[in-house]
Amino acid sequence: MNIHEYQAKAVLKGFGVPVPEGAPAFSCEEAVRAARSLGGESWVVKAQIHAGGRGKAGGVRLCHSLDEVKEAAESLLGTTLVTHQTGPAGKQVRRLYVEQGLDIAREFYLALLVDRQQECISFMASPDGGMDIEQVAADTPERILHRPAGNKTAAEMAAFLGLEGAQAAAFIKLAGELHTAFQEKDASLIELNPLVLTGEGRLIALDAKMAFDDNALYRQPDIVALRDPDEEDPRETEAAQYGLNFIQLDGNIGCMVNGAGLAMATMDIIQLKGEKPANFLDVGGGVTVEAVTEAFRLLFTDDRVKAVLVNIFGGIVRCDIIAGGLLGAVKTHEMRVPVVMRLVGTHEDEGRKLIRDAELDVRWAHDLDEAAAMAAAAARSAS
Ligand code: GDP
Ligand code: MG
Repeated sequence: MNIHEYQAKAVLKGFGVPVPEGAPAFSCEEAVRAARSLGGESWVVKAQIHAGGRGKAGGVRLCHSLDEVKEAAESLLGTTLVTHQTGPAGKQVRRLYVEQGLDIAREFYLALLVDRQQECISFMASPDGGMDIEQVAADTPERILHRPAGNKTAAEMAAFLGLEGAQAAAFIKLAGELHTAFQEKDASLIELNPLVLTGEGRLIALDAKMAFDDNALYRQPDIVALRDPDEEDPRETEAAQYGLNFIQLDGNIGCMVNGAGLAMATMDIIQLKGEKPANFLDVGGGVTVEAVTEAFRLLFTDDRVKAVLVNIFGGIVRCDIIAGGLLGAVKTHEMRVPVVMRLVGTHEDEGRKLIRDAELDVRWAHDLDEAAAMAAAAARSAS
């Protein structure tokens, strides 16, 4: 689960991390009021969306008067920002964050993440903050320090960033606070891009992103309370209501599978056949006809889907329930793309019969390899 920048800053502030003074705003009047009460001579009005790259897309406005704050708020609220992280559809701006402007001397990159390869929590630091870190990693990987969080890591990072004396000490303290926040809040990512050094030599988290481990949310009620449904994929929310494990991806083959492991293997085989899955979908063991209907509806209403691959290895899941779900979906939604079915196991004959009797034009496959090849070929000829 992700939260907004202003929320992440409030969480981190609670652990001692220095952040700029600021206030969220949901309207222009609120934005101006926030700027007035913050005081000072300059302000930054920042679009709050769950995506980075706002600066380049015009979502971060430096203002030198309250009139400019008002103009920035007016032009940002309600617009759709398209950044390299939002996808082409972009994200609508419904909230703003107004901060005191800062005098920036240097911008660093500092992140903490769950490092799958090394099976630990790792830090990443770079003197090239404020930029797209993927680009830094591609062009100048030597300018990123990647280290497991440990006793000496913060000091090593401070030296790598060229910080000395009191600034190095402040950095080491901040790194420790980030690490504590990461562990206590069950975070999966904390990213400060940039962490800045101000003209007066203070270190401040100018931007903050936090993501959390969904499996730990049951013990983080204060984080759950920060959830913004407007930022979440409505298709994933809908799927969750039916107990479906659905994750939207960006390929063109819609998948319906039972079991997370089989769903992962199915996605791998689709890639081996040269195409990409449009989603991850594990319908689960106790699935109902109603939930399968919803699952097919999700696949049929996604314009990116050029073919559907059903891979059901029925054990607890019954094939006739899957077939019944397809029949339910076609009542309201046209089967506008080829559907390839590998349907074997419990009640297989009943399932096939349901589909044949309904005269649905599905393409039958004998095994997963054949099914994936058929779906990939169908998707290719459609696009
Ligand atoms: P992102 O583009 O979504 O990552 O948004 P950021 O919060 O990182 O802001 C983008 C850039 O705006 C930063 O890297 C800074 O260069 C600039 N910026 C943000 N706040 C301030 C500020 O208070 N003063 C100045 N001068 N620049 C700022
Ligand atoms: Mg940033």
